[in-house]
Amino acid sequence: MTEFVFPPAAVPSIAVAGQSARFPVRRIFCVGRNYAEHAREMGNDDRDPPFFFTKPADAVVDDGAHIPYPPATSDLHHEAELIVAIGIGGANITVADALAHIWGYAAGNDLTRRDLQAEAKAARRPWDMAKGFDASAVIGALRPVDQIGHPAAGAITCTIDGAPRQAGDIADMIWSVPEVISYLSALVTLAPGDLIMTGTPAGVGPIKPGETCRVEIEGVGSAEVRIG
Ligand code: MN
Repeated sequence: MTEFVFPPAAVPSIAVAGQSARFPVRRIFCVGRNYAEHAREMGNDDRDPPFFFTKPADAVVDDGAHIPYPPATSDLHHEAELIVAIGIGGANITVADALAHIWGYAAGNDLTRRDLQAEAKAARRPWDMAKGFDASAVIGALRPVDQIGHPAAGAITCTIDGAPRQAGDIADMIWSVPEVISYLSALVTLAPGDLIMTGTPAGVGPIKPGETCRVEIEGVGSAEVRIG
């Protein structure tokens, strides 16, 4: 057994619906733009190929969390997203084989310090501090594939204190879940425990201190977070 100079941190994990065992999180990959209307609202062409950024595994927080308003920003944004949880790893996974690598799905919120992201874009710097801050990955309870199958269509919505902010359909992704897995697995070898945040539809906007932000995906579940 490896000896450590101090006890290693606990394995980050997310809840699984209907059971006490949790899903251990290895890495979090995020798709940059994956809905045409959102790509356009951010000033980009909707036919750009997908690109990826990451969040630290320990950025995950469960549905129902109450987290502080993050430091170093005055423009915290919500991004409602379908989360794909990888159960079987691999490299160079084909589109045809991709679904067999998925353990389950969840609703999630890719919390973003939009002001820091705008600065990073302008200065051609990395997005890490805009995207990968503490508690920046709100992930609802995971639903296993053997219970819900592979949702390819369904409403994805985001509300703040009950008021609608984002509304789309996961069928409108520019790159489908199998295509995202295939593309990503050509860049890194995927492993069990990896999560993929698959991009957000149009309507991103600020969450203010004291507000509750809820993401819901038809047939998948929900993820709610209270800020500040
Ligand atoms: Mn996102």
